Amino acid sequence: DKHYYSTNDGLPELPVFSVFQNKDGIMWFGTNSGLAKLVNNEMIIFKKLKNEDIKSCISLYWDKKEKKMWAGINRGIAVIKGNKILRFKNKYLDQYVIWAIVSDQNGNYYFATEGGGVVKISKEGETTMFRRENGCLPDNRITDLLFLNNTLYVSTKSGFAFLRDERWHKFTTENGLPASYIRCLTNDEKGNIYLATYGAGIVMFKDNNFVQIIKNLKSEYSTIYALAYKNGVFWACCSYGLIKVRNGIATLYDERNGFPNYSGVAVLPLENYVWVGTDGGACIFDIKKEVVVEIFTKDEGLPGNEFTTHNAICKDPEGNVWMGVFGGIARLNQKTIEKEEKKFDPVVILKKITYYNHNQKWVIGGSIKKLTIPYGAKDISFYFDVVWFKNEFSTALFYKLEGENRDWERIDNLRNTKVHFNFLTYGDYKLLLKIVNLSERNIAVKKEIIQLTVLKPWWAKKWVIFSLFVLFLLGGAVLTMIITHLKTQHLIKEKARLDKLVEEKTEQLRKANLLLKEKNKMLAELAERDYLTNLYNRRHAMKVIKLYQKLADRDKNFKISFILIDIDFFKVINDTYGHDAGDYILKQVAVLLKKNTRKSDIIARWGGEEFLIILPKTNLEQARIVAEKLRKEVEASEFFFNGKVIKFTISAGVACLDLGEAYSDEDIEKVLKKVDIKLYEAKQSGRNLIVC
Ligand code: GH3
Ligand code: MG
Ligand code: MG
Repeated sequence: DKHYYSTNDGLPELPVFSVFQNKDGIMWFGTNSGLAKLVNNEMIIFKKLKNEDIKSCISLYWDKKEKKMWAGINRGIAVIKGNKILRFKNKYLDQYVIWAIVSDQNGNYYFATEGGGVVKISKEGETTMFRRENGCLPDNRITDLLFLNNTLYVSTKSGFAFLRDERWHKFTTENGLPASYIRCLTNDEKGNIYLATYGAGIVMFKDNNFVQIIKNLKSEYSTIYALAYKNGVFWACCSYGLIKVRNGIATLYDERNGFPNYSGVAVLPLENYVWVGTDGGACIFDIKKEVVVEIFTKDEGLPGNEFTTHNAICKDPEGNVWMGVFGGIARLNQKTIEKEEKKFDPVVILKKITYYNHNQKWVIGGSIKKLTIPYGAKDISFYFDVVWFKNEFSTALFYKLEGENRDWERIDNLRNTKVHFNFLTYGDYKLLLKIVNLSERNIAVKKEIIQLTVLKPWWAKKWVIFSLFVLFLLGGAVLTMIITHLKTQHLIKEKARLDKLVEEKTEQLRKANLLLKEKNKMLAELAERDYLTNLYNRRHAMKVIKLYQKLADRDKNFKISFILIDIDFFKVINDTYGHDAGDYILKQVAVLLKKNTRKSDIIARWGGEEFLIILPKTNLEQARIVAEKLRKEVEASEFFFNGKVIKFTISAGVACLDLGEAYSDEDIEKVLKKVDIKLYEAKQSGRNLIVC
């Protein structure tokens, strides 16, 4: 019982930024180019305001008394009553993107702006600006608002504040706030306030004090993107998946529990399940079983995979869950998750088999169980797809050709997979696949794909072998007689000649080997990997940046950050321990960088001992946190080479580019130059430093 809505259903252009349900069961969607309202399965679209196109709708707020919807659109506010939409004109508000809207018990409205602080519009229509400049707030970039018990709570990109009895109280890292960037706010039934922070996990605010509520906080889940509370338990999204916090103890659920390897963005806890919106689709997490029981992605019909904001998930009174994603809106019914459990039984589709015989290519369709091919066939390839409803990160694939391979070989791709053999000698083979579900205690299923027979060549036939054997015996006897008659000297001469030949051939082989090594290096270069570290090379990194630049056309807020890392005093390592040690360190650094960054980050070897990390959808502050983490990790590490301990540090420059605004290669050149200058500054200021 699924319903998907996309531009085909008349929805304004996507992505969807917010989903909201007012108490009458009417659903509202704020998208990149308008507003939609769904009443009794009828979609009502709001795309235009007089002469103005509605571009992005990020915040929604339902006024129960007046029965009207307030919406943050483009910059500023619109009000919708019935089927009419009107601009709520306000010179000040019209300058800013609005992230959140709340009202108090007296009918005053508060708006969270990006850069303009908090704006209050009183019942009488008076506008008041609360800004950093007039001492009300720590920062004018507001991320979330919460109104509870006569108090307005405000989170910002560098601090927290509240307004009570017309007085503001400000908090930053200087007076007790344990983190600077606060993503969003939530509360429990007792009226305690909780902050989702970048760096300090979940923080409780009570009696003017801040308490980090996660006792076993680890760096991998200290940055929180979305937060919800239900029945004494907190559910939070982080870069790795979902965090459950009960009595201060956090449990991280990640790809081992079936989550796709993407950041969580939105979270909605229900009775038995938690819905998690990620950049890799919507997941349903079973609270009791502690696994993801279903993932909805584009493959299952979801209009898009990427969730945009923590506002974009919500439940209606009938138990449907509504989601706004890049590409559309989906309504998923609770029933879809209560059906029978799916058995782990992935489908394997053998698409085709190809091989070459006497320089001619042969292609055989995939729907066969048995195949016979002639002896001498070369480049034998089996192409297939493995289809499983869960994400590819929780599935591993192995093959084995019985009769040829002793061990299982791992395959990287699940889609468009190719198993290839250069040559197979005559005999009977069986191609087997083993598919392992990593998220469910490594349950594995084996599938027999095809029985393969390679025919015998003419010389392997019985009578030929017998005849050859007889001939060989006869010839051997004759030869022995002749040889015994040959002079010993002749033999010695012959031996010398052969020795020389062997020597020559060995030299040729050595040269050919060198050439091959050189060629391999060139190939690796062409194939986008660095020869030594197996990281991406500079060329590929540039390609990736250009690709992101194109993708950014869809998303005006697409930020991309760069970290340029350089090992400090690397020459000293080479000079002290030798070039091999230097190479070893470069490889180890590559491993360390990979281990401590997200899969979606691109790590490239930029130069000799310089590494560039590209972090899509990451702002400067987040990138700085990553760089700082890497710096600390290297500083704390000891590397062992030939029984010696090597310790060193790194320096890095960090810069961020708003791809939503950058359109030319020049902008990219500029930010790459900037990150280089920052690195230079780090070196100048004494090394082992991060400079933004
Ligand atoms: P700084 O802290 O200023 O960065 O000092 P540094 O010694 O690291 O800087 P410098 O750029 O002077 O030296 C870099 C050295 O890295 C010089 C070069 O021989 C070495 N190097 C470059 N590529 C490789 C490589 O692939 N393997 C090894 N072992 N060394 C390399
Ligand atoms: Mg260096
Ligand atoms: Mg250098």
